[in-house]
Amino acid sequence: MTQHTHTNAETKIKEWIAQMTLEEKAGLCSGRDFWHTKGIERLGIPSVMMTDGPHGLRKQAADADHLGLNDSVPATCFPSAAGIASSWDRDLIRGMGRALGEECQAENVAVLLGPGANIKRSPLCGRNFEYFSEDPYLSSEIAASHIQGVQSQGVGTSLKHFAVNNQEHRRMSVDAIADERTLREIYLASFEGAVKKGQPWTVMCSYNRVNGTYASENEYLLNDILKDEWGLEGFVVSDWGAVNERAEGLAAGLELEMPSSGGIGDGKIVEAVKNGSLPEAKLDAAVERILRVVLRAADEKVENATYDREEHHRLARKVARESMVLLKNEDGILPLARSGKIAVIGELARRPRYQGGGSSHIKPTRLENIYEEFAREAGEAQVKYADGYSLKSDETDEAKIAEAVKLAGEAEVAVLFAGLPDAYESEGYDRDHLRLPDNQLRLIEELAAAQRNLVVVLSNGSPVEMPWLGGVKGLLEAYLGGQALGGAIADILFGNVSPSGKLAETFPARLEDTPAFLSFPGVGDRVEYREGIYVGYRYYDKKKIEPLFPFGFGLSYTTFAYSDLKLNKAKTTADAGLEVSVKVTNTGSVAGKEAVQLYVRDVESTVDRPDRELKGFEKVELAPGESTTVTFVLDRRSFAYYDVETSGWRVESGVFELGVGSSSRDIALTARAEVEGDAPIFEPVHRNSLVGDLMRPGRLTPEKKAMLEDFLKGGLFTAPEPDETQASSEAEGEDDSHAGLMEAMGRYLPLRAVVGFAGEADGEKKLSALLEKLNS
Ligand code: BGC
Repeated sequence: MTQHTHTNAETKIKEWIAQMTLEEKAGLCSGRDFWHTKGIERLGIPSVMMTDGPHGLRKQAADADHLGLNDSVPATCFPSAAGIASSWDRDLIRGMGRALGEECQAENVAVLLGPGANIKRSPLCGRNFEYFSEDPYLSSEIAASHIQGVQSQGVGTSLKHFAVNNQEHRRMSVDAIADERTLREIYLASFEGAVKKGQPWTVMCSYNRVNGTYASENEYLLNDILKDEWGLEGFVVSDWGAVNERAEGLAAGLELEMPSSGGIGDGKIVEAVKNGSLPEAKLDAAVERILRVVLRAADEKVENATYDREEHHRLARKVARESMVLLKNEDGILPLARSGKIAVIGELARRPRYQGGGSSHIKPTRLENIYEEFAREAGEAQVKYADGYSLKSDETDEAKIAEAVKLAGEAEVAVLFAGLPDAYESEGYDRDHLRLPDNQLRLIEELAAAQRNLVVVLSNGSPVEMPWLGGVKGLLEAYLGGQALGGAIADILFGNVSPSGKLAETFPARLEDTPAFLSFPGVGDRVEYREGIYVGYRYYDKKKIEPLFPFGFGLSYTTFAYSDLKLNKAKTTADAGLEVSVKVTNTGSVAGKEAVQLYVRDVESTVDRPDRELKGFEKVELAPGESTTVTFVLDRRSFAYYDVETSGWRVESGVFELGVGSSSRDIALTARAEVEGDAPIFEPVHRNSLVGDLMRPGRLTPEKKAMLEDFLKGGLFTAPEPDETQASSEAEGEDDSHAGLMEAMGRYLPLRAVVGFAGEADGEKKLSALLEKLNS
């Protein structure tokens, strides 16, 4: 295809549209089949292919489905999103994205469906393995890196599922009810950064409704926010089958319906244009957006592209080992010695769970067997294996347990591969508890009694409860590690690399402790996000609930020291921002990587805000004894909250605390800065304004405050008689407490009540005069 310059392309698109019939235009707004857009041969408009996504390519050759049931061409299976977010490494994710892009080019795929940037509201969501984090900043940064990587290869992405799709339960009908501040600060913010920094070619709208309106016909989300505010240049595609009313959807900003509705949707668009309910200009604008992406895909298509499978497999191994999180390492049980007897237990070691179920389920180019990779890395050690449990059922198999316990007892150390079987978590439904299967729980208990040196390696897409944690010395969260998970696990267990993943989500001690426990997954088709902005660590911190493992936590085989926390200025303005730098030193004896985290807290705030919020992170690699300085740049948004009154991001003037550390609960150093924020909003004073609010520092100018004080003193406010206890108390102290009481009571008095209590004939008149002066 000829390369088009920007102006050329725009002219070409305009020409095409001018030549298209109404039916052709409407037709272009839905797919040709399950995975392709329509082409128009007479005009030379090509058809392009989109496929899942996100952590590999699921290109189906024959029978198409969106549930991951039928076969697809082999592709490299990278770790799932839950894992890769734990790498906290933008460059790594960009590299993975590039590899995905190369595979798309080789397979003639124009748009890869992903990544998913939905927030993990509850660990029960069946699709959490496909999402990055409970924190919008981390999630959006990782999503943006993923998008940048894929798109650098001339292949588009589809950032999904926009928006507020945080559960699988009734996903096609549920109405997610969330207040605007919560949407903006948490659920939309996770997409916002990804759109602004990554500029995905497409965004996929979700199945659910948001505050009453289907995401697929939600003008507020699709047009106002996504395009007008955030500047998305590409188009919106429906999740497969998410269209409710096609013409309404198009008007609201849903350009492409997928998959093909067999002409139903197209017909509705044509009818709406003909009967005048849908202006043709809107249809033209939609077609324009679609064509821009189609043309770009055709322009950037690399002919005869290939990729190096071996190299991508090696990359998958690297991504996997950077994604795994070491959660416990008592007595330095890890790394394992390459000598003595090691018992490897658990069917998951031989039948690994390396990706989640549903539309993201791909066919790997090859799959490592964990046990074999483990044995290969074990050197002189004698490695023996026992099943311990079966993945097929939760039933305890006494013979399997006995065999495993015997093997563990005879060894110096036992490594148990545990985790969630496929059926436990998948797209399409949610979990209803956080437990491992019963047969695994029994096994862990028995093994812990037989072998003190017990290490557990978990394969799962989201947190599990661990009542057994005390009985194990080592714990590695391997998530769903992709096709090269075996080698990655062996690399970590034997110390070829130091683990460097950190949790991108809180691990709760119990399901009952989780933020959405009381309102997930809702009643009928309605789920209310009652915890508001208190999602993930924001909730655990505020409620002072001890999690099992906090957000940002992860151990290493080395140690890091933080020092020299510096701000480039002690006072700044919101717009000028702030630079925070810190020195990090590897104080241990092996090389390692540390994800350095920066949290911000508004110390003085008139609005309710979280105790800390992640606003910066950087992953650094350090040799033993080596130091580096990490610098974070904080901008206005780092200090802001979303103000619903003014529909905008606001920074309140005052002191902010910057905390730098290795997890949300391990802040090594803090510093404070004074930030001059936005000018206070003019709030008119009215008869119902409270005395206390008006007396707040900064609320009124000193002159106006004096006027108010005069008004209050002017005999209008007759204090109620003190009660008996106060009457009998004596002298000095009495006056103080009386004044204190009066002040406390006065604080919540509306001005009209001050007048009312005084009962003066001209009280109202005086109040009107005062209001006029205060509002002048
Ligand atoms: C999923 C999407 C996926 C699409 C196509 C839907 O069921 O929600 O994530 O991209 O199917 O397979």
